[in-house]
Amino acid sequence: MLTIAIANQKGGVGKTTTAINMATAMAATGWRTLLIDLDPQGNASTGMGVGSESRDQSSYDLLVDEIPLADAMIETSIPGLDIVPATQDLSGAEVELVTVEERTARLRKALANHTVHDVCFIDCPPSLGLLTLNALCAADTLLVPLQCEFFALEGLSQLLQTVEQVQQRFNPSLDIIGVALTMYDRRNRLTDQVSDDVRECLGSLVFETVIPRNVRLSEAPSHGLPALVYDHSCTGSRAYIALARELIGRFPPERKAA
Ligand code: ADP
Ligand code: MG
Repeated sequence: MLTIAIANQKGGVGKTTTAINMATAMAATGWRTLLIDLDPQGNASTGMGVGSESRDQSSYDLLVDEIPLADAMIETSIPGLDIVPATQDLSGAEVELVTVEERTARLRKALANHTVHDVCFIDCPPSLGLLTLNALCAADTLLVPLQCEFFALEGLSQLLQTVEQVQQRFNPSLDIIGVALTMYDRRNRLTDQVSDDVRECLGSLVFETVIPRNVRLSEAPSHGLPALVYDHSCTGSRAYIALARELIGRFPPERKAA
């Protein structure tokens, strides 16, 4: 299984929207896909239509009580896509894990030797705390959604520093598969300027596909559906399909097919 953490310590940059729709796009093309909701807010779970009544087991139990992965995941309405939902008690995990040994390796252990899925997306919370560290230690690679706004690059340098520390201490093979520009607004000149800066600074690390600002993407979660199901032909959905294609193109050769 190829594990991809979707992280950026800023909130509201499109992590969850990207996680939901990339996972859906991959599942739709035959990849057995797992989505792990690692944000106590549980937006990925809600957005996939998993109500709080069906979150008996969650990523909290996976990390804190070390229950088996198979017991923590449930099927979504999308064939081929399973989810480990999140509940609010996950916010307590940041504190509860502080005193345990190998506290950054809990998720990595939970996912070890898991062969039921081909690909796994981890939706991270908006911080660089213990939950995101667990994701970075468990992941093969990192996908960074970046909103084209002022200070976007500054936030990114902090994230890159954390990645470097994780590489040095815990997960030497962690890499960055790409940076995806989100909520792109062609009519906004600042968007263009920031996008130019980001591309100049990061080069080919930035995906060519950009995710436009699209109201359908923001409506979909309230229906408990990925945008790709809610309206598969809107500009946002089409962009995520293109991004998924570009993402697969960057997979290591032995991982390029489901
Ligand atoms: P994060 O997980 O990084 O906090 P979200 O994916 O939850 O970010 O996005 C923040 C808000 O912006 C949500 O209400 C979401 O529906 C909306 N949103 C995300 N991407 C887009 C987009 N491309 N166009 C319009 N709205 C978007
Ligand atoms: Mg989120």
